[in-house]
Amino acid sequence: MALIITDQCINCDVCEPECPNDAISEGALYYDIDPNKCTECVGHFDTPQCQEVCPVECIILDANHIETKEALLAKYHKINHD
Ligand code: SF4
Ligand code: SF4
Repeated sequence: MALIITDQCINCDVCEPECPNDAISEGALYYDIDPNKCTECVGHFDTPQCQEVCPVECIILDANHIETKEALLAKYHKINHD
């Protein structure tokens, strides 16, 4: 599943450059993850890079976007055109 940023976000901007899929952007109130681009970092890294760097641990799995590892890999291939 994709990850989601909660309202605990302090807009520190640390996660945005870490995302290999450019899925993170500045939202109206706090940072936002595009579920169509987030692969949980599958295909690029073993762990979600945004979660690794977030100082307040406000990035969680989004129960509304449940996907299998295969679906995440397919998304990775679609995004990376290979
Ligand atoms: S889990 Fe990976 S792909 Fe998803 S938003 Fe975080 S850094 Fe980007
Ligand atoms: S690293 Fe965490 S606190 Fe910082 S902008 Fe990203 S989600 Fe928000």
